[in-house]
Amino acid sequence: MRMVLIGAPGSGKGTQAQLIEKKYGTPQISTGDLLRQAVADGTPLGLQAKTAMDMGQLVSDDMVIGMIRDRISRPDANKGFILDGFPRNLVQAQALDQLLHLMNRPLHLVLLLETDFDALMQRITGRRTCRSCGHICNIYTDPPKMDGHCDECGGNLRHRVDDNEEIISNRFRVYEAQTTPAIAYYREQNKVRVVQGIGQEEDVFAAICQILDTVKVDPDEVPMPTLDELEQMIIEKSQEALIEKAGSEVAGVKQRPKQKSARTKPVIKATTKKQSGVKKKSAAKKVVVKKKTTAKKKGDTKKTAVRKKTGIKKTAPKKVANKKTGVKKVMPNKAAGKKKAVKKKVVKRKKAAVKKKSPARKKAVVKKKTARRKK
Ligand code: AMP
Repeated sequence: MRMVLIGAPGSGKGTQAQLIEKKYGTPQISTGDLLRQAVADGTPLGLQAKTAMDMGQLVSDDMVIGMIRDRISRPDANKGFILDGFPRNLVQAQALDQLLHLMNRPLHLVLLLETDFDALMQRITGRRTCRSCGHICNIYTDPPKMDGHCDECGGNLRHRVDDNEEIISNRFRVYEAQTTPAIAYYREQNKVRVVQGIGQEEDVFAAICQILDTVKVDPDEVPMPTLDELEQMIIEKSQEALIEKAGSEVAGVKQRPKQKSARTKPVIKATTKKQSGVKKKSAAKKVVVKKKTTAKKKGDTKKTAVRKKTGIKKTAPKKVANKKTGVKKVMPNKAAGKKKAVKKKVVKRKKAAVKKKSPARKKAVVKKKTARRKK
């Protein structure tokens, strides 16, 4: 039988799970116990979980989901399991469902232990756990025969660090906020059976047994996959999901261009048409403006401007442009020519002045003159 035991902190889940294990041979899997063990062993997981646990907060979902996956794939879980303290929120409940679906091993039931706040407070603050065998007793409701020692094995009893009032209140808040949605999730699946957790342990257990005895378990179930097989299945499943995702994306991509070609092509065409239309219009506007300006300059009438406008489309703009460029070219050249002429004159005058003023030149002139006279 595969079941989940849900209840507020101190509702007696642990105690009842142990009793069920004894009677039905179904192993109890307590995430709280596994985490406490990891903390005691000083494993990296334990070190990570410790802070959250000491504060009465939940440790990360990944951590507990991984822990549960490993644990329920062990051979002893083949005959079923009692999950105690897991799932504690909706994410964990959904992850568990996925995992069990993959293993073809759905849950048979979810047992909800209901209790009132005061009773829970007394239970938790009076709770003692045996360090050796894990047996749980209560110094108020079920005191040990020998103070501080376990009735079962005589081992030392310990008071859990997170069993003080402040931390307990915090754990209640966490339960209300996080675990209640997980219960609602199971209620929707019609898997929840409620047992009143108040009263003597035996009475509560008897009520639980009444329910468990009605659960139908398929005796011909194929053995559960091992952890390796399960991991392989998870890998395959995630690969399938990836392929599916990629497939749908490819299909989406294939479809999109079709839609695009069906939809966007005309849009593109329309845009091009629009764009070219705009260009043509603006070009025509420019030509008209040019023509109007030219016509006005030349003193043409409107009619001539319009007539020109029609013919202009092919030839007139060039002419206008040519005229314009011609003017532009001639004008600066004339000015430049004038400037050049002026410059030449100035240079000549300067040279003449230099010639006049230069003493070497004077000497040469004097020499020439003297030579002529001698002749
Ligand atoms: P418990 O013994 O079930 O009351 O658990 C003791 C502490 O272990 C909790 O207060 C949490 O910090 C942590 N814990 C146990 N189970 C879970 C879980 N399923 N998810 C997150 N944290 C958990």
